[in-house]
Amino acid sequence: MSLITLDKVTKIYPDEFVALEEISCRIREGEFVSLVGASGAGKSTLLKMIYANERPTYGAIYFGGRDIASIPERLLPFYRRNFGTVFQDFKLLPKKTVFENVAYALEVQGKSNAQIREEVPKILEIVGMADQMDKYPDQISGGEAQRIALARAVIHRPRVLIADEPTGNLDPVSTDEIIRLLLKINELGTTVILATHDQSIVDRLHKRVIVLNQGRIVRDDSQGRYN
Ligand code: ADP
Repeated sequence: MSLITLDKVTKIYPDEFVALEEISCRIREGEFVSLVGASGAGKSTLLKMIYANERPTYGAIYFGGRDIASIPERLLPFYRRNFGTVFQDFKLLPKKTVFENVAYALEVQGKSNAQIREEVPKILEIVGMADQMDKYPDQISGGEAQRIALARAVIHRPRVLIADEPTGNLDPVSTDEIIRLLLKINELGTTVILATHDQSIVDRLHKRVIVLNQGRIVRDDSQGRYN
């Protein structure tokens, strides 16, 4: 059974702009899926709907078989715990250290200090930032900041990692590092959905690719070929 199913999803923004048109696809647990397409193709809109930040105008999205439109508003924060998210800008809290930035993700979920002291160094080790946990965001590079954002996104062990243009602000070396980490997180069992306009990344991944063009799926290829 698929983890996420989109059934003829159409999104029309209030200004009548059709951002997505009859999108249907299934994503299985443990998959690594890249969503590619030019800027404006609808990638972010699709991710926002999966995360229940935007609602489809027509069609339905199922998560684990449940229509997410049926989840009451007050339970959406619990639904969203299934996900970790990273974006082009790292969104780190500038007045908190690397350790505190990652710890914060557990604090808001009510985890104990003992758990936090145990879990945070472990995930910082995985992303290769354990030796820099007392630094502040302005003391680390963009690539390092994105590694921290990744650590923060997955520390609560989400089922799905949503990465929306995570390498958009990074140099080629840092880009490689982030892609390598996304693959590692995927190998550890997390489903990864990566949106990017950078086809060279997709070339190297050899994972499933869904190509969007003006709000429609124009290709869905399990071998990572996009044209
Ligand atoms: P991508 O992530 O592929 O760059 P987006 O999903 O951000 O594409 O945007 C798809 C289209 O929808 C764009 O033309 C954009 O201008 C439009 N759009 C996105 N968000 C909104 C919004 N809140 N209101 C109106 N139009 C929007």
